[in-house]
Parts: sequence; structure tokens; C-alpha cells
Amino acid sequence: MRPEVNIESCIACATCQAVCPAEPNVFEVTDVSRAVNPEACTGCGSCRDNCPTGSIKLID
Ligand code: SF4
Ligand code: SF4
Repeated sequence: MRPEVNIESCIACATCQAVCPAEPNVFEVTDVSRAVNPEACTGCGSCRDNCPTGSIKLID
């Protein structure tokens, strides 16, 4: 699994980065969140479940 961020609705709050347990962290947040290390994703769902704008979905 890996997260896909909707950059139209992302508000760059960095919650996804804060809750991601992967090492290295899957996300890098600047103007929007980007999944820069998708191979590290364990599919835990925390980013999707905690994103306040519903901007993340997990895809295969
Ligand atoms: S938690 Fe959601 S709104 Fe916040 S930076 Fe991540 S994708 Fe964007
Ligand atoms: S599903 Fe879990 S491991 Fe994957 S990016 Fe989201 S928080 Fe990180």
C-alpha cells in the first residue's frame, strides 16, 4: 500500500507526517504533503484516518 494525497484539498497541516510510524517517514510536507518515501508505507491507515480534510487514500 501507499498513500495518495489530494493536493487540491491538502492544507499542509502535517498531521499525516506526525502520525506516520514508518521509517523513513513516508511524507514530506511543504506547500502540500507529498509521499516521498512510498516504499516505506506499512498500510497502517493512520494518515488517512487522521487527515482533517480527508485528503489521503491508500492505494495498492
Ligand atoms: S494530514 Fe491531510 S491536510 Fe494535513 S498535510 Fe497531511 S494530507 Fe494534507
Ligand atoms: S498508511 Fe501508515 S505507514 Fe503508510 S503512509 Fe500512512 S501513516 Fe505512514
